[in-house]
Amino acid sequence: NRKPKIVILGAGYGGIMTASRLQKSGAYQDAEITLVNKHNYHYQTTWLHEPAAGTLHHDRTRMRIDSVIDTNKIHFVKESVVEIKKDEKKVILSNGELEYDYLVVGLGSEPETFGIPGVEEHAFSIRSVNSVRLIREHIEYMFASYNNSEEKHDDALTFIVAGAGFTGIEFVGELSERVPELCEEYDIPREKVKIYSVEAAPTALPGFDEELVTYAMNLLESRGVEFLISTPIQEVKADGVILNDGSEIKSRTIVWTTGVRGNSILDKSGFETMRGRIKVEKDLRAPGHDDIFVIGDCALIINEEINRPYPPTAQIAIQQAYTCANNLKALLAGKEKLEEFKPAIKGTVASLGGKEAIGLVGDKKLFGASASAMKKVIDNKYLYQLGGMPLVLKKGKFNIF
Ligand code: FAD
Ligand code: NAD
Repeated sequence: NRKPKIVILGAGYGGIMTASRLQKSGAYQDAEITLVNKHNYHYQTTWLHEPAAGTLHHDRTRMRIDSVIDTNKIHFVKESVVEIKKDEKKVILSNGELEYDYLVVGLGSEPETFGIPGVEEHAFSIRSVNSVRLIREHIEYMFASYNNSEEKHDDALTFIVAGAGFTGIEFVGELSERVPELCEEYDIPREKVKIYSVEAAPTALPGFDEELVTYAMNLLESRGVEFLISTPIQEVKADGVILNDGSEIKSRTIVWTTGVRGNSILDKSGFETMRGRIKVEKDLRAPGHDDIFVIGDCALIINEEINRPYPPTAQIAIQQAYTCANNLKALLAGKEKLEEFKPAIKGTVASLGGKEAIGLVGDKKLFGASASAMKKVIDNKYLYQLGGMPLVLKKGKFNIF
């Protein structure tokens, strides 16, 4: 009479919240629950643009897993997942393997390169603590190296951000705040530095409220950001990018933010995917696999009002974790009827660096300081959901006004 085994892959928003919910509801008494993650810490992907630019230390965005999960109740395994063997109901790890009765896949996303040559080799991406501290160090090194060569290489002070979606815009916002500080620190005139935001669509933040987009673009331009709109990047090279008209911008720093696709482990494991994501059933299970739940950026769900996929967000990943945990509890109790996932989209708020932000909450538009305060409230709310007031006090954002 062994307990069923639940294995949760990934301790991002979706994975760690599922584990936390199962812990809080006492499910560990009826099942052996294991959380697997590459690192012994959980990081907040939605904050990564800040440590990438160097406006916030990366330790502020992460916390040890055993500080938010009771590892006596939920086993924790620090390993990389290599493949899911769905027919054998097991998961291959870089060292060893795990069997499961129920699996939760919350492995997050990978940068979408669209197969554009040179991206993998030469561009940076904002995807993990490791990837963003490399960006921060690299940017500082560019400033530090500039005054050390006889011949000044301006491409060292040219920063290109590919894609003006939310990630690109939030990063450019932080970078435009950080650059004046770096100029001061390394004795470099501000006008020597160029920041390009390069976007394929006819506007930054395509699809978002026009008035808010204009506010964001004007603000960033006032901080010296140059927008190249309707300009798809065609190739990335070691020393710059080639644009759609064949022209070239020389740069030693290209940060690639043209969207994401689901973790490649899903394709490798033989699941049917769209842009690397599994189109899940309403109860969040993979079609044809009643023992596998897929949540967060690995899952594709359709917004039936417009018949298009919801953009992958932390907001949805967190909400899915609640449904997923409820459904696992139901299965453990022998129920057949599972809960259907319905996202409750509260809105979108994007930071622009410093005390600036834009947001659409319900149909209310927020600009500047009020949007920035709202962003911090959202960030703190998540910490509260995960670790209560102690975690908010330890990791929260308070410099609201
Ligand atoms: P993640 O939170 O990314 O977690 C995936 C986890 O899986 C990580 O802990 C990783 O270490 C682990 N992992 C990956 N591969 C392996 C492996 N092979 N083996 C073991 N472990 C592995 N969304 C919003 O709703 N609001 C925002 O304001 C917002 N801002 C954003 C800002 C930035 C800069 C970025 C990049 C994204 C932002 N998003 C935002 C989107 C949001 O971050 C994602 O939708 C969300 O993180 C998805 O959650 P997840 O649980 O699927 O994956
Ligand atoms: P995105 O898909 O939202 O934006 C990518 C942008 O890159 C698009 O505007 C696209 O037109 C552009 N692009 C594509 N190919 C290009 C090319 N070759 N050259 C130049 N531009 C190109 O992706 P993202 O910004 O990485 O965001 C990923 C997900 O995370 C989205 O779902 C987003 O909503 C979410 N997110 C949310 C927030 C927030 O709510 N504050 C912040 C960051 C990310």
